[in-house]
Amino acid sequence: MFESLSDRLGSVFDRLTKQGALSEADVIAALREVRVALLEADVSLPVARDFIKRVQDKATGSAVTKSITPGQMVVKIVHDELIRVLAGDEPADALKIDSPPAAILMVGLQGSGKTTTTAKLAKRLKDRNGKRVLLASLDTNRPAAMEQLAILAAQVGVDSLPIVKGESAVQIARRAKTQAAMGGYDVLFLDTAGRLHIDEVLMDEVQAVRDIAQPRETLLVVDGLTGQDAVNVAAEFDGKVGISGVVLTRMDGDGRGGAALSMRAVTGKPIRFVGLGEKMDALETFEAERVAGRILGMGDIVALVERAQETFEAEQAERMARRFSKGLFNMNDLKGQLEQMQKMGGMQGLMGMLPGMGKMAKQAEEAGFDDRMLRRQVALINSMTKKERANPDLLAASRKKRIAAGAGLEVSELNRLLKQHKQMAEMMKKMGKGGGMKQAIKQMM
Ligand code: GDP
Repeated sequence: MFESLSDRLGSVFDRLTKQGALSEADVIAALREVRVALLEADVSLPVARDFIKRVQDKATGSAVTKSITPGQMVVKIVHDELIRVLAGDEPADALKIDSPPAAILMVGLQGSGKTTTTAKLAKRLKDRNGKRVLLASLDTNRPAAMEQLAILAAQVGVDSLPIVKGESAVQIARRAKTQAAMGGYDVLFLDTAGRLHIDEVLMDEVQAVRDIAQPRETLLVVDGLTGQDAVNVAAEFDGKVGISGVVLTRMDGDGRGGAALSMRAVTGKPIRFVGLGEKMDALETFEAERVAGRILGMGDIVALVERAQETFEAEQAERMARRFSKGLFNMNDLKGQLEQMQKMGGMQGLMGMLPGMGKMAKQAEEAGFDDRMLRRQVALINSMTKKERANPDLLAASRKKRIAAGAGLEVSELNRLLKQHKQMAEMMKKMGKGGGMKQAIKQMM
């Protein structure tokens, strides 16, 4: 699935990865092509625009380590952003099937794969969760559809509600509920009627069934091949009946994949499952990471960038360790440490991570040693000249005044920073002699 989007992005990134260095103009040009690729993959315009903007913000000014090309870095950023959009904020958890019999309402247009998906889900719950499942078709317009569900139910080894001619959808729903409760079923699937297009009568019927059934889940089944149409259908159904999740079918075909991306962004509803074929076990839970990987088809590059980042950090730690153990710990080093602390969630965050440090974090906060202090200290260092940072011993009274004023702070605060720096330099020197420095720095990174 997603072949065409992956191919398109692939050729864009091929060009990027072959370049040595990348200017901001290159990034912008490349992202323009990504935008076109997304649009051609049927990602909606606002979603694509938003996506590109966020990638651009992240790509500009992100550190590019020396063992990877800027193009590879962009690939990684695009990949991470894809996962973010696909996964959304809440996790696409397992189906809510507590309080048996739990009703699951299946809705969607005719031909979307609703009946097939219902049987696939029933099989899954029976095989993996050992649930007793009852299926009921509410498609009173199409007797063939009712029979199809009964046949599939028998095929996957679950029960289906006996077909009674002449009942309305609401009557069937009522009977199904009673039967599910009396028969001791865990889960009841209600396969509603589909139409070729969304119409009022259909929506009214689904609403009435919903009110009777009180479903724990309302799953919309949409054909992933229909791209943007699928997203429109989802928005429509969600507005009219309210859905708890989406199943994208036919993701085994050569669809344009963008539907998955837009679906989440436009409807805010999680994609719970993807259909990957006609067979009864061709259903998988939706996993953002895997889908992002398939969209990009560039897992190797992503792994490479991750490895390069690790190596880069290890190299940096080693370089710092060598400096520190020689007693070289200037203001630039201190700034690096302070910024690292900020990145890791500041003092409180850092201490909170260490066992038994909760109390100390509180004391530090009371003593005014908090994240604002980190920011003030960085501001003070920024206010120093290059020479002063390299050699803090230069800091006579007049220089101190200038630096403090530049940061909008008192000289006393600068003095405190200098004292702290001296203590840290001492400590670094001692630790360096005793070894274990590299380890300590690595842990701080
Ligand atoms: P309904 O009208 O929405 O109930 O659709 P059906 O369940 O009858 O499915 C219509 C056709 O799509 C059937 O031939 C199914 O086998 C096929 N189908 C359903 N899901 C998938 C899927 O994930 N992949 C593929 N390739 N075919 C599917």
